[in-house]
Amino acid sequence: MADKVIPLADHRYASSVPVIPAGAAPATGELADRLDRPLRDLRISVTDRCNFRCGYCMPKEIFDKHYEFLPHSSLLSFEEITRVATSFVAHGVHKIRLTGGEPLLRKNLERLIEMLGALRTPTGEPLDLTLTTNGSLLARKAQALKDAGLQRVTVSLDALDDAVFRRMNDADFPVADVLRGIEAAERAGLGPIKVNMVVRRGTNDHEILPMARHFKGSPIVLRFIEFMDVGATNGWRMDEVLPSAQVVARLDEAFGLQPMDPSCTGETAERWRYRDGSGEIGVISSVTQAFCRDCNRARLSTEGKLFLCLFATQGHDLRALLRGGADDESIQAAIGHIWRQRADRYSELRSALPASAQSERRVEMHYIGG
Ligand code: SAM
Repeated sequence: MADKVIPLADHRYASSVPVIPAGAAPATGELADRLDRPLRDLRISVTDRCNFRCGYCMPKEIFDKHYEFLPHSSLLSFEEITRVATSFVAHGVHKIRLTGGEPLLRKNLERLIEMLGALRTPTGEPLDLTLTTNGSLLARKAQALKDAGLQRVTVSLDALDDAVFRRMNDADFPVADVLRGIEAAERAGLGPIKVNMVVRRGTNDHEILPMARHFKGSPIVLRFIEFMDVGATNGWRMDEVLPSAQVVARLDEAFGLQPMDPSCTGETAERWRYRDGSGEIGVISSVTQAFCRDCNRARLSTEGKLFLCLFATQGHDLRALLRGGADDESIQAAIGHIWRQRADRYSELRSALPASAQSERRVEMHYIGG
């Protein structure tokens, strides 16, 4: 069990106020970092709160009733989020994923979706606007999300067996309600829908085949995620990681699989199709097969700090610029400057890092956005 840590709300993660470079050229939509990686994908955490207590993300022992979540005044407003997103889009972002915490807990989220849905890339295209949810509120909200302009959803679901699922979400939430949420999303046209299953060896790996069987034959793409060492509270151990290669081997033996080409550069999942043509699955191997080389993602935390890697320990405080009166050109220039300096590739370096660096306090996923 991890030691109980109660961080001070609002000062919990180190950050620096970004430099606004003088005389920066306007954004061209083609920014590259020090490893020549473009900026394409922005994940925005709209709340640090969640109604689940999955042990691998927000274990109950730490995120209990005494835990201080961010006060509302710390959160970026929808107008602030849209201002920042506009700069990112000018720099080449064409996909925005709303996440958290549980994004559907943020009040009036549909309003933010409408605002982001109005943004256009430098070539005039609408954004790929999506959201990751635990599905608990999806049955109620799917149609309103679609009407607001959301294109598709990814739903997290770790087991089909109700007892296993309730144990894993640690909020006694029934699997049937998430399945109803997925159906509502399908009816509303929020596809292609992806379902993410975090696989924890010894906890839910016996659910791999039942989950695959359930979604096989539907357009839903089930993706298996390796249990990752994000944050500092989930008691991560390598022996609880089931390498994706073993997930693929089990599925291949049961159903027959063949590899597929990636749909785009920087895709997190490796894609496989069933040999009988009955659908597709994906594996996300961030532990055993790091994909830093193509990582084109930036993350905006709930309180407006920009993180360049899921495993970062330091953010860049964009909220300080927004609330300090910086104009749009300055914010755009600061983001460009930060991305050009980026050299993060934690997952590739993980095994070579000294233990002290590995245990350094990393940002929690619910805060930075999964
Ligand atoms: N509440 C939403 C949800 O459940 O999808 C969005 C936030 S959640 C942090 C985003 C994704 O991160 C989920 O699919 C979750 O399962 C995954 N996740 C969280 N902690 C993880 C870990 N330690 N390893 C792998 N995936 C993790």
